[in-house]
Amino acid sequence: MASDSNEMAWMEDLQNALAARGLTVASIPGKGRGLVATRDFSPGDVIIFQEPYASAPNKVSSSSSCDACFATKNVRKCSACQVAWYCGNACQRSEWKLHQLECKALYSLSEERRKMLTPTIRLMVRLILRKQLQCEKVIRTTAEDNYDLVSTLEAHISSINENQLVLYAQMANLVKLVLPSLDIDLKEITHTFSKLSCNAHTICDAELRSLGTGLYPVISIINHSCVPNSVLVFENRVAIVRATEPIAKGVNKLHRNCSNY
Ligand SMILES: [Zn+2]
Ligand SMILES: [Zn+2]
Repeated sequence: MASDSNEMAWMEDLQNALAARGLTVASIPGKGRGLVATRDFSPGDVIIFQEPYASAPNKVSSSSSCDACFATKNVRKCSACQVAWYCGNACQRSEWKLHQLECKALYSLSEERRKMLTPTIRLMVRLILRKQLQCEKVIRTTAEDNYDLVSTLEAHISSINENQLVLYAQMANLVKLVLPSLDIDLKEITHTFSKLSCNAHTICDAELRSLGTGLYPVISIINHSCVPNSVLVFENRVAIVRATEPIAKGVNKLHRNCSNY
């Protein structure tokens, strides 16, 4: 019951925040939850934009992109962990609350284990650490940017084949090795990997080169369609959904292009 009333509370907060943008979350027959316009949008209008709740660049050890803005030029790696890269002090500072915890964990890893880090493992580690910072109230959260939204994303666990589940379980084990001081529930992390595979987005530059992966919980509510009325683009790691055709209030569900992770 407690979790039900908690879900109602954050859903109400989310609906209020979305109402200001002319959007609402609605239950769409046969499709689960979806976003519906409550005002008219013209082609080119920004429908919604969002920073990722968690993100990680594509490469882990070789020259990568900045953790904060995904810039690829003039990046330098964190001298302690040798895993995170930044384009400058401002970006390093903006990431520090999260990276401080991550850096300590990565620094303690053996050379051997550090080589086993993949962008997806790093994304999961960062997701868990962000959740921890949220629980400890170290970072600010909003109705559109918090772990409650992540926790209700679909995992579609019944449609995942056995081999994939075994792989997710192995990845969950590695996450536990990276974060030995945390109380990691392997089953929960296995499910969360499944959530990432259904919901995380590939972050692309203007030339559609893939730079990394991000989890955008509100944008994940938008249904995909091969006949989309909106398109997902990125500016740095900010995901922006724009209308590609007129969207009339109440009538059109939002469907965006199928370019998922
Ligand atoms: Zn940067
Ligand atoms: Zn570091």
